Amino acid sequence: MSSGWKMLRCACGHSFGSRRGGRPSCSRCGESTGIATTGIYDSSVQLAEAIAHANLPTEIREDVESRLKRGPRLREQTRKRGGVELIHRIIRKATANNGELTLAKLRESLEVEGIAEPTAEEILGDAEIQGVLFRSATDTWRWL
Ligand SMILES: [Zn+2]
Repeated sequence: MSSGWKMLRCACGHSFGSRRGGRPSCSRCGESTGIATTGIYDSSVQLAEAIAHANLPTEIREDVESRLKRGPRLREQTRKRGGVELIHRIIRKATANNGELTLAKLRESLEVEGIAEPTAEEILGDAEIQGVLFRSATDTWRWL
């Protein structure tokens, strides 16, 4: 039985995830002592969302959220299709520990939520135009 995921926080301040029962070491500094359990989740998706949230500095998170809410283009487009709140949640879910968002991961998250439109390409294109995300490598984006 391997269900269950833990969110852990290292003494260095980095949050990361591990399967329950594993012997975790920090994914940033490699330390395996001084690690505290900060949450337990049923799925790796919930875990990933919690970790992304925990590792995003508060000021950046608030800024990104207010910019996403303000964006008139995104709001207008998503009124007819996936709701802005849902899309926003999916984007955050798809963002990795290190703040990177890949096209493949976003596609996968949209599929999990059963969203056909907007597509991952459209979402990333809009976010890029609004200046919320920038492309850091081929098919990889980072939050500003
Ligand atoms: Zn660490």
